[in-house]
Amino acid sequence: MTVTEDMGESLLPLPGASQTPEKRKWRVGWLLLAAAFLIQFHINMWYLHHHHNTGPKPPPNPPNPQWPAEAVQAAQLAAAHWCSGNGNVFADTLAVNADGTPVCECDDCFSGPDCSVAVPACIVNADSGNPLLFEAFWRANPDLGTAVIPGWYRLGYLPKPGAETFYNDAFIDAVRGMHTLVGNAVTEGRYILVGTGSMQLVNAVVHSLALQNPETVSPVVARAPYYSAYKIQTDMFNSSLYTWAGEPEDALTASKRPGVQIELIASPNNPTFQIQELGDVHGHVVYDHAYYWPHLTPITEKYDHDIMLFTLSKATGHAGSRIGWAIIKDPDLYAKMEYYLMISTLGVSHDSQFRATQLLKSVINSYSKPQKSSDKQGIFHYGREVLQSRWARLQSIVKGSSRFTLQELKPEYCHFFKEQSGLSPGYAWLHCEREEDADCADVMLKAGIIGRPGTEFGASSRYVRLALLDRQSSFDNLAARLSDLAAQP
Ligand code: PMP
Repeated sequence: MTVTEDMGESLLPLPGASQTPEKRKWRVGWLLLAAAFLIQFHINMWYLHHHHNTGPKPPPNPPNPQWPAEAVQAAQLAAAHWCSGNGNVFADTLAVNADGTPVCECDDCFSGPDCSVAVPACIVNADSGNPLLFEAFWRANPDLGTAVIPGWYRLGYLPKPGAETFYNDAFIDAVRGMHTLVGNAVTEGRYILVGTGSMQLVNAVVHSLALQNPETVSPVVARAPYYSAYKIQTDMFNSSLYTWAGEPEDALTASKRPGVQIELIASPNNPTFQIQELGDVHGHVVYDHAYYWPHLTPITEKYDHDIMLFTLSKATGHAGSRIGWAIIKDPDLYAKMEYYLMISTLGVSHDSQFRATQLLKSVINSYSKPQKSSDKQGIFHYGREVLQSRWARLQSIVKGSSRFTLQELKPEYCHFFKEQSGLSPGYAWLHCEREEDADCADVMLKAGIIGRPGTEFGASSRYVRLALLDRQSSFDNLAARLSDLAAQP
């Protein structure tokens, strides 16, 4: 039995298949309200006992609330501070120079007070899928996506008294609006759950599916190459309800009490960016559509799978806000996942949900008004253009050499852009062709590039994944290093 279950036993009865989500929401709401009431009751009694009066009245609302001038000024000063295009000053940047000006936070491979100095022979980190390419877009569009959060904004655990979930209505509304705009997923009549990134939702869904058959051990499978976190996370939780079983065909031998198989599938795939659709499947399939956005892949259909995961990280680039969402058909699974999210993190930051709402709304609005040629391009146009040019550059480097090959991707008609869309993947899945280059990640490292070894994706060490989602300067360094490598005899 896991810690989560133990806590569940003592805190709340575990949601069973017979309970409707309404009943559960009602119970969660009442439990929190009851706790709040009891605490408040004791505080009141103590106060009355000691003061024999009704207590101080809250201060009246200021007649004309103003945003503090320093907060606005700090944001403006930070935005205006120039770091040579190779770094940032944020409103909360701590370090200051001798003259009191903030110290630039330099991008990788740059240094100096204004980040103007390129670090010689700097190793390029292409390991992480950190979506920093979007920073330039948001900087260039300061009118979009800004969120102002006053000190009194939604302090409580629940977004409002009596709320049925931990999620803000406005955020759920923005998620539905975004999917309607893009046409990538059905949300009408579906449950939507919000998680601390889709990373949290991957385990929330695995745990909750396995909990539907608690007497068995559900094999968790993925077809290689699969997103490395699936295995790492499943192994780390070391649950008695499920176990990592590798490829689907190995699942039956994975446990003495085999349960219903849970297949994790990223589509487009991380690392290959190929679209993965399963025909006849055995058990549950969790479709992780982190990359199913028009800047990353052509939108070919509106998916309506039973379980779909999405994330803000790859839609707008705000990985640090830690917002992901699941679109679910089964009410029992929804109830179990909600319970998981309640016990693990007591919901999701309202501040992050608010920021995400503003970001999604700004994307929706920018595409909802008729475009004039003078209009600035929206984020999907920006992202697609940047990534297409990176992919084209990479292809020309790789084609000029017999040392490597890249994954094959097919251009398709994109329903969002209403045209055949070129290729704009977020990762290169590079294969080292020479016999002596059996460890492709090592070949990269010797050339000054950190990539993620193929073995972490359940594939051969002849593969390495190179992330293409970083800032332009990082990609330029990556391309330069690869060109040098390709030019070697
Ligand atoms: N799924 C896939 C396929 C991913 O690549 C990632 C992030 N790299 C995630 C999920 C996790 O995303 P999040 O930032 O929402 O936790």
